[in-house]
Amino acid sequence: MATIIDGKAVAAKVKAEAAQEVQALAAQGVVPGLAVVIVGSDPASRIYVNNKKKACQEVGIHSEEYALSGETSQQELLALVEKLNADPNIHGILVQSPLPAGLDEAGVVETIAPHKDVDAFHAYNVGKIMRGRYTFLPCTPAGVIELIRSTGVEIAGKRCVVIGRSDIVGKPMAMLLLHQNGTVTICHSKTQNLPEICREADILVSAVGRAAFVTGDMVKPGAVVIDVGMNRDKNGKLCGDVVFEEVAEKAAYITPVPGGVGPMTIAMLMKNTVAAARLSLEKAGDSHG
Ligand code: NAP
Repeated sequence: MATIIDGKAVAAKVKAEAAQEVQALAAQGVVPGLAVVIVGSDPASRIYVNNKKKACQEVGIHSEEYALSGETSQQELLALVEKLNADPNIHGILVQSPLPAGLDEAGVVETIAPHKDVDAFHAYNVGKIMRGRYTFLPCTPAGVIELIRSTGVEIAGKRCVVIGRSDIVGKPMAMLLLHQNGTVTICHSKTQNLPEICREADILVSAVGRAAFVTGDMVKPGAVVIDVGMNRDKNGKLCGDVVFEEVAEKAAYITPVPGGVGPMTIAMLMKNTVAAARLSLEKAGDSHG
């Protein structure tokens, strides 16, 4: 039976480190600030935003919420982002996705100043991640790396399989595993023999968004299985991509949903916001020195 990776406990550690850094910054007169922009009334987005605000409170980050109506135009949204770019009390800007239809998400992301892009979605930050020289890492994949680290299993030299190739999870996930010297395969909806490829994985990360996608027969005995998926089962209950009971029989380590990757994503956002505040202080020091 697999050991369950406790995402809440690992996240608590990351948040405690961020809180310490907040104290250190306070001594230098800086309070990290995060602006969270939410457009429209998507209920899942509302829950994510509330959780992010709660985490800010825990860590000591100043948070500001901008709740805009679903009728907001692209121009109005970009004007808000520009205003936040120029606000010295705001070090991180997060625009909650998905945006209502008609708004261009990519255009919004590219308007966020790269040094305030705590989601690390801006092309400038994505490019830096490709190079392995980055300021921010995208929160979910960075959180997954921390969860794997918490098991003590070395990534270097391991066969890693990522299911999913989105810009926010799958692609950066594969890149981070590569930076850790994993041998990485990315699977997607056109992949042939997907179960066979998954069975080769020492580390399997599923980011598909389909309940019961990863079954026991797709998992190598002793593997580390990380479930990024956030889905609803037929009873409306939150679940991941992985058939937990079945896979836990074979894996050495497994993340639950909820309580696995979700809390880590928020903890890494706190870490990035504090890093952005530290960066602003260093920049100010540079310009005065
Ligand atoms: P996405 O943009 O919809 O990407 C899903 C990926 O899965 C795509 O690359 C798609 O392949 C692939 N896929 C779909 N059906 C497949 C199939 N039958 N076989 C193989 N691959 C298949 O989703 P996302 O934004 O990456 O998110 C993935 C999941 O993670 C969602 O459940 C989301 O809610 C969750 N999530 C959780 C967190 C967290 O903090 N826990 C954060 C972000 C996302 P193609 O590219 O070929 O279409």
